[in-house]
Amino acid sequence: MQFIDLKAQYEFAKQRIDQRIATVLDHGQYIMGPEVGELEYQLAHYVGVKHAITCANGTDALQLALMAMGIGPGDAVIVPTFTFFASAEAVAFVGATPVFADVDPRTFNLNCEKLATTIRHVQANSALKLKAIMAVDLFGQPAAFEHIQSIASEHNLLIIEDAAQGFGGERQGKRACGFGDIATTSFFPAKPLGCYGDGGAVFTNNDEYAALIKSLRVHGKGANKYDNVRIGMNSRLDTLQAAVLLEKLALFPAELQRRQYVAELYSAELVHSPLLVTPECESSVSSSWAQYTLQAQSISRSALQQRLQSQNIPTAIYYATCMHQQLAFTSASPAFTDLSIAESLASRSFSIPMHPYLADEEVERVISVLLNMSL
Ligand SMILES: *Cc1c(COP(=O)(O)O)cnc(C)c1O
Repeated sequence: MQFIDLKAQYEFAKQRIDQRIATVLDHGQYIMGPEVGELEYQLAHYVGVKHAITCANGTDALQLALMAMGIGPGDAVIVPTFTFFASAEAVAFVGATPVFADVDPRTFNLNCEKLATTIRHVQANSALKLKAIMAVDLFGQPAAFEHIQSIASEHNLLIIEDAAQGFGGERQGKRACGFGDIATTSFFPAKPLGCYGDGGAVFTNNDEYAALIKSLRVHGKGANKYDNVRIGMNSRLDTLQAAVLLEKLALFPAELQRRQYVAELYSAELVHSPLLVTPECESSVSSSWAQYTLQAQSISRSALQQRLQSQNIPTAIYYATCMHQQLAFTSASPAFTDLSIAESLASRSFSIPMHPYLADEEVERVISVLLNMSL
């Protein structure tokens, strides 16, 4: 059993993907070829935003968003401490300070009750200028944007949606990558919509941000490539990756349904285990199920993982270390609130196989191994 099965997906779509790749090799426009524009059009349409701008990876997408917002030294950005390193890294990379915030024990996303307190503490106790909230759609579930938006408006803060894992999720009828002032995603192979290498995209309804990001991703270009009006990056999506993504995007709605089905099978049974806390979606919210993440209770996580491993069922830990505990951030980022919920999740969470090509029998086998565990 595979944790994420990219090979099964390729076998399923091989003919179409190979054909798309061959088309690029024939026309030879490897950089910013026609597939890139076609993909950007389709991504914007899928999400329901005005602009989708592709780039080299999800980390660059965050950096481009922060640069477009003019965030830099002396500024602070709130980031959940329970996330992948890149969310906070991008903030530090542009010279700003990530301020870590706690998460919600049921959704793994930014904890809106604690968020207001964190903001007040930063404003009262530091010289940093708080500019934005970065909300991460962890494990595929869009963060509580209606609450985050009202807190942000009250304090005059911008919002960045890190939807690297969220692409395909929905909240109150709106798709992930459509929230906040700027949203970003990643097409790293293991994400819900992945390519065959690195890739990413930035989404916004704001024309000025869109124009800036298009300039920033090509060395801060002006009217043409050799007219440089600002310091930027070299962060384009390869045409070959765009070609792969066009075919994968066509498959994506059916894959999403299958992920939802697998998650429902897991939850319907595992919710009865006294040793596990199953992941919860809020009402009117659907996850893209980038990960199906359980919490061990009254038993050690490693005991559960070992039992699964003995039956050749792979697991993974996202994330064993909170951002405020990472060596790279221990001295750089002051803590303004307790981060106890995230710390607890980091010690108890583990993810089980989740991908659209899991057979019903495989899902049932994972369930039966977990339900047969006793104290
Ligand atoms: C994967 C990921 C990123 C970074 O994406 P890359 O394409 O690997 O650079 C950023 N944030 C989160 C939450 C992620 O999961």
